[in-house]
Amino acid sequence: MTYDAVISETSHEISLATQAFIERTQGLRIGTDADREATSGATFQSINPATEKVLGSIASGSAEDVDSAVAAASAALSSSGWGTASPATRAQYLFDLADAVEANREQLAELETLDMGKPISQALDDVGGVAAVFRYYGGWPTKLEGSINPVRQPYFGMTQIEPLGVCGAITPWNFPLVMASHKIGPALAAGNTMVIKPAEVSSYSTLLLADLARQVGLPPGVLNVVTGPGRTVGQAIVDHPDVVKISFTGSTPVGRRILEAGSRQMKKVSVELGGKSANIVFPDADIQAAAKGSAEAMWENAGQVCVAPTRMFVHEDVYDELVEALARETRALRIGDPLLTDTEVGPLVSKDQYVSVQEYIDIARSEGAHLSVGGRALDQAGYFVEPTIFTDVRNDMRIAQEEVFGPVLSVLRFRTEEEAIRLANDSAYDLAAAVWTRDVARALRMSKALKAGTVWVNTHGRLDPAQSFGGYSKSGNSRELGRESVLSYTRSKAVMIDMSA
Ligand code: NAP
Ligand code: MG
Repeated sequence: MTYDAVISETSHEISLATQAFIERTQGLRIGTDADREATSGATFQSINPATEKVLGSIASGSAEDVDSAVAAASAALSSSGWGTASPATRAQYLFDLADAVEANREQLAELETLDMGKPISQALDDVGGVAAVFRYYGGWPTKLEGSINPVRQPYFGMTQIEPLGVCGAITPWNFPLVMASHKIGPALAAGNTMVIKPAEVSSYSTLLLADLARQVGLPPGVLNVVTGPGRTVGQAIVDHPDVVKISFTGSTPVGRRILEAGSRQMKKVSVELGGKSANIVFPDADIQAAAKGSAEAMWENAGQVCVAPTRMFVHEDVYDELVEALARETRALRIGDPLLTDTEVGPLVSKDQYVSVQEYIDIARSEGAHLSVGGRALDQAGYFVEPTIFTDVRNDMRIAQEEVFGPVLSVLRFRTEEEAIRLANDSAYDLAAAVWTRDVARALRMSKALKAGTVWVNTHGRLDPAQSFGGYSKSGNSRELGRESVLSYTRSKAVMIDMSA
């Protein structure tokens, strides 16, 4: 089958502010310095994956720059008064940041789309979600209560909640702004300061976010951004003795290395890692809704989503109907220029990802999976790969077990609920799963039986700031969003007072 590369004429005009942003070499955001060259003077280039052309240059930091950023973050805890700011003050900064994000929604989305290729409509949605996360966490500073404990007489026992200090954050390229907000929101709500490193291939939006934080008056040093490679800047954040917590989202191999390095130094390390989510369709489901919802979730961000429903298990009674509906949804997708407002699938983020996804398509073919839709790269500039569906996949094939991180879906067949559970749970990853059924009892049984940190029923991929999210085992060790996340940026202190003294 073939796709039309570019269909729409309704192009999104890039704002002058965005033009100016990418024309200027972007510096580090450290302390009072809003635009600082790397100590070495080095820069790296940002590439637009839709055109393969250079967008602009960004400072490439080093361990020395991380030292400066950590020093600024430490100083902000004492000298700027951030450490003693009232909870209501911290709350107001987060509310103001949420407002600023909304007011600059277009520019943030444009930078995300230009830098990493996600369709502008999805980037705009992301920015809306980011504002909601900051607003949600703005509610927390005034609600972080300790406790008075029922200890024996004559003692008075209480538990106080304290911030940790300087936190380090390392984010992936697939949801740069969203992932940044998941870390910055709870860290600042709890009274910490932060040094954050975005992925090199998608650094722009985090830099603009730091500028907005400065515009709303967040004290210098509370939020610092050091751009540059993971193996130098990321590693230096992980190794820095004054960074007390590391929050990492990215691949499982890098996460494991960070967990090992951080643990050796007795740091708190939270890692959110890869996934290979099962998506199970029972015959009693609304099949058209399941096909539509699954297609939307699968092709969002060209499949570069940690929770993407990449292993689809369909009951044999509805297999043909569902595969047909899914193929129809997929063939109707508008692929092409991500700046066009009605584009649904953009390019992959980078050449590396483009090559790796095509290798997986070859692997799936050689393993004997049936190529049902797509399978090719588009014959044009940009890292475009067709949304691809393999049917007749076996769960032990590499295409069903390894994280492709691109627009490649494996469809498998099952007969009984027990078999669906066994197959779905036969995975190295435990991030997320989805179930499509109208039977409430089955939905409850399945959500209990599935090995996954999140289970969706009759939907997929929906997050809400009020509900924590995360995987376990090879998919991670922590939760983001909700109460659990803000508490993970705090420590408890027990105070015991002898009242007879
Ligand atoms: P990645 O290669 O692991 O990189 C993630 C971040 O770590 C980047 O900022 C990277 O910097 C940095 N990094 C690389 N090596 C490092 C090192 N030795 N020390 C410290 N930092 C280092 O992952 P990715 O390719 O960007 O993202 C895709 C992965 O993220 C997928 O596996 C996906 O499932 C996962 N993900 C998980 C979630 C979740 O919530 N569970 C959400 C989104 C994505 P540079 O790239 O600049 O070198
Ligand atoms: Mg880029």
